[in-house]
Amino acid sequence: MIPFPLIGIYGGTFDPIHFGHLRVAEELVEILRLDEVRFLPAGCPRLRNKPVASQHHRMAMLQEAIHDNGRFRLDDREIRRSGESYSVESLRELRDEFIGKKTAFCFIIGIDAFMKLSSWYLWRELFELTHFVIVNRPGHASVVNQAILPPELKNECLGRWTHDVEMLRSTQSGHIFTAMTTLLDISATTIRACIAAKKSARYLLPDTVLNYIGIHHVYHEEK
Ligand code: ATP
Repeated sequence: MIPFPLIGIYGGTFDPIHFGHLRVAEELVEILRLDEVRFLPAGCPRLRNKPVASQHHRMAMLQEAIHDNGRFRLDDREIRRSGESYSVESLRELRDEFIGKKTAFCFIIGIDAFMKLSSWYLWRELFELTHFVIVNRPGHASVVNQAILPPELKNECLGRWTHDVEMLRSTQSGHIFTAMTTLLDISATTIRACIAAKKSARYLLPDTVLNYIGIHHVYHEEK
């Protein structure tokens, strides 16, 4: 059987994008042999505070960060859509766009976000639309310990776990893969706080993004 092309979908607020995100995407391209990673910035996330930077700035910073990587792409559908952002809608649309093409999607997610998956809109349907690839984050419980998941989510995940990349390529959705990417203790919250406090955020995110932040005075006001 010919394996499916595999596309990583990386959702987030990216407020701003940083090396924690970029390194995960780069390593997953190698580990999973991803054909492409699509960064999918949330327009108006339903379950968290409104992003600090405008949609325009978050998109521009993402573009600055990924333009020189041939496998990274910006997918602005949630920004273009008005109202709250629902991953399920984006994945439905993507599935429609790829109809007839045997392509599998891997939704890339940190363990901190995956732990809250059962609060997402129509979360069970997500498993019909995509695989999940979970990565660890410093300061959060390890993905390897499935016992940490809330009961409802743990039950839904039963029978879906795999260590086999080929399983992700031979089916279109429904599996969960845990990837041991390099742990980088970087968060957008810390970066925003550094900038607001006029401290250096250098080496936490690409220089091009930091320059953009400086030129456009993003995050310079204390929140
Ligand atoms: P904030 O500090 O504003 O909450 P963040 O740094 O967590 O932002 P998001 O855009 O909210 O970044 O994250 C998008 C996705 O990337 C989430 O699934 C999150 O778990 C993951 N992620 C963010 N930072 C890291 C990191 N340093 N290592 C691994 N995964 C990360």
